[in-house]
Amino acid sequence: MENLPEFVRDVLERLEAAGYEAWCVGGCVRDSLLGRTPLDWDVTTAALPDALLELFGKQAVPTGLEHGTVTVLTKGNRVEVTTYRVDGAYRDHRRPVCVTFTPSLEEDLGRRDFTVNAMAMDLRGTFCDPFHGKEDLRRGLLRCVGEPDRRFAEDALRILRGVRFSATLGFAVEDATAAGIHKNRELLRGIAAERVQTEFLKLLTGEKAAQALREFPDVAGVFWPEVLAMVGFDQRNRHHCYDVWEHTLHALEEAAPDLVLRCAVLLHDVGKPPTFLLDAEGHGHFRGHQAVGGEMADGMLRRLKCSNDFRQTVVRLVEWHDRNIFQGEKSLRRALRVLGERDLRRLLAIKRADNLAQAPAFHGRQKEIELAEKTLEELLTEDACFSLKQLAVHGKDLLELGLKGPAVGRTLNALLDRVVEGDAPNERTCLLELARLMAQEGQ
Ligand code: ATP
Ligand code: MG
Repeated sequence: MENLPEFVRDVLERLEAAGYEAWCVGGCVRDSLLGRTPLDWDVTTAALPDALLELFGKQAVPTGLEHGTVTVLTKGNRVEVTTYRVDGAYRDHRRPVCVTFTPSLEEDLGRRDFTVNAMAMDLRGTFCDPFHGKEDLRRGLLRCVGEPDRRFAEDALRILRGVRFSATLGFAVEDATAAGIHKNRELLRGIAAERVQTEFLKLLTGEKAAQALREFPDVAGVFWPEVLAMVGFDQRNRHHCYDVWEHTLHALEEAAPDLVLRCAVLLHDVGKPPTFLLDAEGHGHFRGHQAVGGEMADGMLRRLKCSNDFRQTVVRLVEWHDRNIFQGEKSLRRALRVLGERDLRRLLAIKRADNLAQAPAFHGRQKEIELAEKTLEELLTEDACFSLKQLAVHGKDLLELGLKGPAVGRTLNALLDRVVEGDAPNERTCLLELARLMAQEGQ
């Protein structure tokens, strides 16, 4: 196979030279056939773990010996090498009670989740594809290896992986597999939050994330019931031609595959169902849905054990998504000060997607967003000051003026406020003078 990286070829060659069958397997075979660059390379082999440790010596890291997995570090890369295995009976819908090694590649492929993930390919490009994964790949179909109910009951994470692969590959889910996903979804409750998080975030950045979530909102609803409240929720509002969930999915389709952006778009209107009020004319309003949504998003992301940094960024964008930052350069500078460049760009992208997912009569607001984007570019090229780092005076200057402790940070922030508001130029002498005055007033 011509696109097999050198470091993988090297591992396969060494195994074969030692007399063991060795194959690339799973996602890397699938992605190579699709012309995509695999994220990681997995090798499956007849060699037992002890033989692997001996063969690769210092290069071998025993990352999961009980499952037969050894990570081989080679040429600055890593390859996961796993002994052919079959899983014993499963407990808790999570993990097998035991695994046994087998000399049969077919048996190893049979324990894998989906047909497109159950193909193996050797050094010479020979394929082993007993479940016709190639055919499903060609047809764009995601299908369980074996009987869906049994496979999902063995390991419930496969339910979410199924939705994830349909999102990232853009594949249709074969009927019996889709029925199995819906039917068994509640079993996902037993899966650790971290594992759910990993699969769900991969799903969110998929090219067809919206399509997959449209088909399987009930799966997300197992860990995020807040999503179910959005499905079919009639907004009764002239800005909108879709219910809250359809609006959200349309917005998601407009958002680039940046994880923070996608997650913020998915959650931007989560606060709408609980804040809904109908006025005397029968129009729907959602006063305060940003703040309520921010709180809900915070809880949802905590539940999935997302990192603090990720959670706080998404929550802030949810809180800010409906703010008017289009009242001239000053409001944009304020937003830049609070959010920083990267998140302000994301906020504009959310506003763009949000608007495009509203009734077409309101798409005229795109102009406002484009203007804000242009103004932002100008502010950045003229090196406008919007952070402490860019301020013409620093903590050390204020210490020299005699300020101490928390007064230093307070004064720096007050100076930055003045500059951002356009009340003072970002010039050293002027800011030092101002700081002196502030210090006197403070005494
Ligand atoms: P990615 O591109 O995200 O790495 P992948 O298909 O390689 O996708 P991995 O989680 O890296 O997914 O797993 C590697 C392979 O192991 C899969 O292709 C599949 O054959 C098998 N596998 C992984 N998780 C499961 C599971 N829960 N049940 C059955 N087989 C699994
Ligand atoms: Mg992989």
